[in-house]
Amino acid sequence: MPLTALIASYDHILLDLDGCVWVGDEPTPGAIDAIAALRAAGKGVAFVTNDTQLVDEEYVRKLWRLGFQASLEEVVTAGGAMQFVLAERFAGHAAVVIGSPALHRHVEGAGLRIVNDTTFASRADVVVVAFHRGFDYDELRQATQAALRGAFLVGSNRDATFPTEDGLWPGSGAVIAALETASGRTVQTVGKPEPTLVQTALDRLGPGRALMIGDRVDADLGAAHAAGIDGAIVLTGASDRETAQAASKPSPVAIAERLQTLVLGAS
Ligand SMILES: [Mg+2]
Repeated sequence: MPLTALIASYDHILLDLDGCVWVGDEPTPGAIDAIAALRAAGKGVAFVTNDTQLVDEEYVRKLWRLGFQASLEEVVTAGGAMQFVLAERFAGHAAVVIGSPALHRHVEGAGLRIVNDTTFASRADVVVVAFHRGFDYDELRQATQAALRGAFLVGSNRDATFPTEDGLWPGSGAVIAALETASGRTVQTVGKPEPTLVQTALDRLGPGRALMIGDRVDADLGAAHAAGIDGAIVLTGASDRETAQAASKPSPVAIAERLQTLVLGAS
């Protein structure tokens, strides 16, 4: 299937996952054909996600399970970025983690000891924070006490919500806001709109013109801008057309109903 002229003009396409490639456990309509067409045309592809509910290998498996080709090198996640930051600076230190089992594995993979629910929790050196479905008051209390004692605070992202089959759910931004409100401190985030994930993907893809496609004006378009590449918005996730059209600094190069229509045109 031929690509649209816009997409054909790029060498590399960076794809957000939630709300762009899939919503929950369902590919967005036509996304499988769209990504297959990108590969057939020889485009570099990367999957760039703020989600920390799975580790990188699990995203590769989910992509294959839903019908997409993917390799580990193509997947760039906020969890992976946090693991990198923590391994560089805090290996051997103690951490309180608010996050999914996958995020716990990233923290352990960086060489930190997780001290949640121990007498050491309030004296942890690091607090790692992201949305997860088991978020509760006890871990917020432990993280707050460690933060008040000066722990380094690192978080996934400030996305207020994320799209599910059941509408928008509160995201990591909401959980981080709770910790910041309680502690009076600021969490350093690694995910979009910070440029780190996009830069990591671009490093792996090599030289060429690149486009970031995602559903969030703040996170996806913001990260594209911060990393110095173009951004496009699809309307299958968090941002509606009005929000996307109102975006300036910069404006998206395209606003499309979904990934399929952006990549392959109206069907
Ligand atoms: Mg998204």
